[in-house]
Parts: sequence; structure tokens; C-alpha cells
Amino acid sequence: MNRVNNKVALVTGGGSGIGRASCCLLAQAGAKVFVTDINQMALDETVEIIVSSGGLATGVHQDVTDEGRWDEVMSLLLDAYGKLDILVNNAGISGVGLPPIEEASLASFQKVTAINLDSVFLGTQKAVLAMKDSGGSIINISSVMGIVGGAGPAYNASKGGVRLLTKSVAVHCGTMGYNIRVNSVHPGYIWTPLVENIFEHVGVDNLTEDGFREMLTEKHPIGRLGVAEDIAKGVLFLASDDSSFMTGSELVIDGGYTAV
Ligand code: NAP
Repeated sequence: MNRVNNKVALVTGGGSGIGRASCCLLAQAGAKVFVTDINQMALDETVEIIVSSGGLATGVHQDVTDEGRWDEVMSLLLDAYGKLDILVNNAGISGVGLPPIEEASLASFQKVTAINLDSVFLGTQKAVLAMKDSGGSIINISSVMGIVGGAGPAYNASKGGVRLLTKSVAVHCGTMGYNIRVNSVHPGYIWTPLVENIFEHVGVDNLTEDGFREMLTEKHPIGRLGVAEDIAKGVLFLASDDSSFMTGSELVIDGGYTAV
């Protein structure tokens, strides 16, 4: 089970959902986990869950859109652990409630792309600088909405951007001879606070919560929604040497959503 023993992992948005599950699984598999999130209480809870079950974790507040804070977080991490082996660029928002393209403001579009895409540029850049001599694995959480449309222009553009940013940096790292692998993950619908918020904020066609879940489930041929651990298992795979021949790849974990 010690698939990432003694590796140092930084996970953004680690206070909730897919980020929390990834932190916990990486810690169970032997990693020292640096958990960051904009939500201090949530990130403290993740650290507590890991430490109380015998794992190693440190929590640091971070808004991933703040470049200066990225530099501070990397300094804190390197001071604490001396190296970075794994970065999971996970923090993100759904952009729920944004109007359609005809009415959307540029500012509302840029708010979503700043959190979902610009932050991945920043994190990836800092990680490449930290890993270029020692090697590592960068895992960028995109979405099925980075492959097909349907979630609105800002979310689709941000997640599609993450997909190709990942491939671009993977090719660069290979060309430069850095031992850094860079891959994206594309979850289908996972029942996390992000998805619960979609229902709570907009309600969907007067559906009940059960009806909303049913509507989403029908989009997944496998017959269920995902859980955060489904994605964390993919993150652990990409973080570990089990995926040593994968870079620039898109790992689709979507219950068949994009197969239809
Ligand atoms: P989640 O439960 O809402 O967790 C996201 C975490 O990121 C929250 O703790 C959130 O804090 C934090 N965050 C938001 N803005 C931030 C910022 N500027 N800086 C740092 N942290 C910030 O969401 P999730 O469903 O686990 O989603 C994780 C990732 O998976 C996202 O990139 C999402 O787009 C992607 N994804 C999710 C699904 C899905 O169905 N759930 C599907 C495909 C892809 P607050 O709670 O305070 O906002």
C-alpha cells in the first residue's frame, strides 16, 4: 500500500470533496501531505483526519489565484519537507448561476477562469521549478467538461484549458529532459459540495434533490454518480510509479459519461 512512501505532496482545495479524498489516500499510501485551501476550517479538518489516523499532514491557507501566496506556500513546503514530489492542482469552482453567453460579463467569465485555469498555470510553473532537478508528478484536475460542452462557457473553457495546458507542459518537460510527468484527470459528476451547490443555488427545473441526483445519474451509463474516492484512486495512480509511462495523458474517470 505504500505506493508513495516518503513522497511530499501538495494538494490545493484539500479541504473538501475530491481534494480531501486525495489528501487522505495519498497520506494512507505513505505521502507527507501539504494541504491548502481558501477555507481554513475545512483544511484544518482534513489535516485532523489524516493526523488522527497516523498520517503526516500540514495545513496552509491559500487562495490559488494569488501568485505571491504560491511563492510563500512553496517556501513553507520546501522549508518543512525539503522537496516537492507531487502536486495536485485541484481547487476549483463550478461557476454556478452564471448567465448564458449572450448575457455573461467578461468579469464573471474571468472569475471562473482565474480560479480553475490561471491557478493551474501558476501551480504548474512553481512545481516545474521545484521539481526540474529531482523529478515529480503534476496532476491537474480537469473534468468531463474539459472534453465536451454543457456546463457553460467559463467552466468548459477553464477545464478545456487545463487539459491542453497539461499536455503542453508534459511535452516541454519531456523535451527538456526533466523527469516530470504531467497528466490531467477528468471526473464525471461526483457528489461533493460543488455539485450540491449547483442544486441549492439554481434548483434545476423544479426538481427535488433526489430528482436532481437521478437526472445526473442518468448521464452515467454505469448507473451511479461518482464518489470522491473514485477520483482519489486515479490521483494516487498518477502520483505513483505505477503510471511511470504516462505523461500528457487524460485520465477519464466518468462512469461512461463521455462514452455516450
Ligand atoms: P469542492 O468540494 O467544492 O472542493 C473544492 C475546494 O476548493 C473547496 O474547499 C473550496 O473552498 C476550495 N476553493 C475554492 N476556491 C478556491 C481558491 N480560490 N483557492 C483555494 N481553494 C479554493 O469541489 P470538488 O467537487 O471536490 O471539486 C474539486 C475539483 O474537481 C474542482 O477543480 C472541480 O472543478 C473538479 N471537478 C469536480 C467534479 C464534481 O462533479 N464534483 C467533476 C469534475 C471536475 P470553498 O468551499 O470555500 O469554496
